[in-house]
Amino acid sequence: MSPSQRPGTWRIGRVVGVDVLIRPSLLVMGAILVVAFAPRYEDRGTSPYVLAAVFVVALYASVLIHEIAHVVAARAFGMRVDSVTLHLLGGETLIEGESRTPWQELVTSIVGPLASLAIGVASFTAADSMAIGTASDIVWSIGYVNIVVAIFNMLPGLPLDGGRVFKAIIWQLTGREEAGTRIAAWIGRAAAVAIVVLALTRLGNDTATSVDLVISLLIAWFLWQGSSEALHHAGRSARINRLVARDIGFAGATPPPGAVPLPVDLRGAELLKAMAARPAEAYALVESDGTIYGVLTARAVDETYRETPR
Ligand SMILES: [Zn+2]
Repeated sequence: MSPSQRPGTWRIGRVVGVDVLIRPSLLVMGAILVVAFAPRYEDRGTSPYVLAAVFVVALYASVLIHEIAHVVAARAFGMRVDSVTLHLLGGETLIEGESRTPWQELVTSIVGPLASLAIGVASFTAADSMAIGTASDIVWSIGYVNIVVAIFNMLPGLPLDGGRVFKAIIWQLTGREEAGTRIAAWIGRAAAVAIVVLALTRLGNDTATSVDLVISLLIAWFLWQGSSEALHHAGRSARINRLVARDIGFAGATPPPGAVPLPVDLRGAELLKAMAARPAEAYALVESDGTIYGVLTARAVDETYRETPR
């Protein structure tokens, strides 16, 4: 098992230096898609299942190209990428570290849908120039699914690419990443509600099928879940950022003998990391000139975190 191997995934290969992982459920979904699409390819001289399988493999390859676009952009900004996990309508690119600027967030998120859009347009153009037949039909289908992948991923909700684009824009406008996350998450929740309302109002419509309704509800649930997760995360990191050693420490107190020294200017995640590296009940807070500022207790940090308003 390689270090990047995530539980419940299979490694199917390496592309541009990153592991490509799939979940077993993707194979099940692929088989279902082959059966679902096979009737479209009947009476073509070749087994409809073979042709449908070609189409499904091309669909997954398209999703992989979408993810590789994210990988290349993240790398260009010096972020490390460990693995790509493929899902049905998109993948998940595991990036170490986060965007440091709104521009990085915007570019790394938008290149995926742009890649899908480019493949879609190229496939339509190619299909148009081919003689009508099985080959052009498959190429056209590939174009179609790439447009679907581009649109789905541009839905305005975290963690989708569209949500990250909104986050980047609001981050740029307000200068605060947390505001970007929160507002993008609320846009995602609003989009989820809008999708449900739209699906329900179409219920009386003859052209609406129950499959449409189920798909709409699934997408809405996915958007709501992702946005709630993002809000929770933003709240947690905001609370952690308010932990400041100098404020929490007992100024002037004498550290117990042998207490682990910590720089008094530590704060937020850095403070928690330093404490986790050398677990203790009490730390000596030290100024940059080496003088003792006071004592920081693990209990005080814990209590401050709990009392910080969400
Ligand atoms: Zn994407």
